[in-house]
Amino acid sequence: MSTFETLDERFKPCVKPTAKLDHLYDGCRWAEGPAHFPAHRALVWSDIPNDRILRYDEATGNVGEFRKPAGYTNGHTVDSQGRLVSCEHGNRRVTRTEHDGTITVLADTYDGKRLNSPNDVVVRSDGTVYFTDPSYGIEGWYEGYAAEPEQERCHVFRIDAVTGTLSIAADDFDRPNGLAFSLDERLLYVSDTGVKNMRVLDVADDGALTNGREFARCTVGGFDGFRLDEAGRIWTSAGDGVHVYDPDGTLLGKVLVPEIVANVAWGGYKRNRLYICATTSLYAVLLPVAGAKTM
Ligand code: MG
Repeated sequence: MSTFETLDERFKPCVKPTAKLDHLYDGCRWAEGPAHFPAHRALVWSDIPNDRILRYDEATGNVGEFRKPAGYTNGHTVDSQGRLVSCEHGNRRVTRTEHDGTITVLADTYDGKRLNSPNDVVVRSDGTVYFTDPSYGIEGWYEGYAAEPEQERCHVFRIDAVTGTLSIAADDFDRPNGLAFSLDERLLYVSDTGVKNMRVLDVADDGALTNGREFARCTVGGFDGFRLDEAGRIWTSAGDGVHVYDPDGTLLGKVLVPEIVANVAWGGYKRNRLYICATTSLYAVLLPVAGAKTM
């Protein structure tokens, strides 16, 4: 079976037909939240039901536990200062791992009530943090601790870069999930696993999100996490692999993966290796295109 499915001519320069899908690790229950550290040549990702963060060493190919217990982390990103920012289902918070290894809580309550279970996070180049807060981590015991939600809905939240103040950035999602900026950071893409689509919103200078509209509707399964490449194309998780969208909304093609994909991240020393978290496994594929510099 071919690794790639081309649906539009514009997909051909994005992939190499002879490239194969590398199967790097298969000991997970639900792999999510990959984040790459170029300086360490390492990828960390979450194995949510096993309450651990794993680390893949690009130099040796070895995989080991980075943190366990890990607060049932889900999505991760690396901020512009190279620090790991994490969503934790178990502790229902967003944290940052500092350069000295200590953990700083960035957000755990809004309006005096606990967050649901932060799912995925992105940091704008000015330090503003955006994260999604669906209730998956408290709906049962598999991905965290079962609990009644305290928030009325599942929001997209923003943490001010200067004051650290938490505010609601978008309040009209069902289950907001993955999120990523356009190359100029003028647009924020946000998937909604409740309605199986992806929206795009305008980002104002002050960080406000406006004019949300549907960008794409998933054709197989649902969109979870995703990242952009250097040309602004969206490489998103889906039920049968990674779906690649042009910024105009056209589904260009797919990287076919034999497990349900939850999230992706760019790595490799040229940022042209796409890491894929898919249920029990970590995969990677080497591509002729590179990832966006934006997170
Ligand atoms: Mg997610």
